Order: sequence, then C-alpha cells, then structure tokens
Amino acid sequence: MMRYETGGLDYRTARACHECDLLQYIPILKNREVARCQRCKALLKRRHVMSLERSLAFSITGLILFIVANMFPLVSLKALGVMQHGTLFSATLSLFEAEMPFLGMLMLFTTILFPLFSLCGTIYVLLSIRMDHYSHWIAPMFRFLRSTDAWGMLEIFLLALIVAAVKLVDITELYVGVSLYAFLLLILTLTILSIILNPEDVWDHLRKHAK
Ligand SMILES: [Zn+2]
Repeated sequence: MMRYETGGLDYRTARACHECDLLQYIPILKNREVARCQRCKALLKRRHVMSLERSLAFSITGLILFIVANMFPLVSLKALGVMQHGTLFSATLSLFEAEMPFLGMLMLFTTILFPLFSLCGTIYVLLSIRMDHYSHWIAPMFRFLRSTDAWGMLEIFLLALIVAAVKLVDITELYVGVSLYAFLLLILTLTILSIILNPEDVWDHLRKHAK
C-alpha cells in the first residue's frame, strides 16, 4: 500500500523514486503539501504556496520590462561629436547591414522574438489556469515552451554588450540608457520565473481538467 502525506488519489501520476526506483502514484497536491516515497521516504514532490500566481505576476512583470527594454536605447555612444543610440532592434539591423544575415537572424530570434513568444505563451497558460478557462491549445503550448526553454539568450547578449562597452570606453563616451536597467531587471525576472514556475503544478491543473 502506498503511503502519502497528502489527501485523496483522484488524479494521479506514476513516478519512480529518484532514490530507490520504486514506482508509485502521486496525487495532485494542494499548497504546502509534500509527497514522500513509501519505501525510503525521499521527497518526491512539493507544492509551493501560490506558485502559479507568483509565476504569473513575474511573467507580466517580465513582459513590461521587455517592452521598456525594446522601446529605448540600451546604450548611447558619442564619438567625434556624433551621438549614436543603440536599441536591441538597431543592433540586430546593424548585423544585416554588415552583411551578416545569419547572425542577424540568430540575434533577432534569440533576443527579441523568442523571449517575447516565451513570455506571452507563459502568461497565456498561467492566465488560462487562473481564470479556469482550459482550451485545447494550453497543453501543446506549454509542452512547446518547455522544450524550447534554452533558446532565449538574453544573458549572452548582455555579456557581449559588456565586452563591447569595455573595449569602446577608451575611444568613445558611453551613456547607459534606461533600457539597459530594464534589460538587467528582465534577466533577473526571467531567472526568478524559471525557479518558481514548477511545471508539475501546471501539468497537475491540465491533467485535472482533461478528465
Ligand atoms: Zn524511494
């Protein structure tokens, strides 16, 4: 007989214990509930308090920061009396103008299109669950978002920007734009979102409503 620290077994998923490999069924957990292995008592699953609501709040914050990061210049350069402003999009365009279309496409996809799609998709999934509105698009959308998790490369872009800024600082005057702060906060927000968004909580909801 399985042992749980939780309630009923209405909606269950089978899982092998990561410590002793015992296959057992785990019910959908409520806030703060944990499920432990029947044999070795290893922690199998934990439901954090309002994890989906907090994830939704961070997703919406991320989308606002993304819009701000793209609306204004990240950095401005002053050389020979001429001021040039650099946005994320203009940096992408400059790669196309420099006849590097592959790099331009890669940058457009990894720093603008994919983060935007990822944030909007996550908000759509979490908002649907929050509003108790389950369309047949949610599960494929969330599965796709999970499988493409590594495509966003904002951190790498930031690293490249810092390296370029350090090299240019001796020959030009460099001004930091408001978008750079939004960009830094966006990376921080996405990192926190990846920590607090528990995919199992989302699947639990989708599984429950698929019955
Ligand atoms: Zn075990």
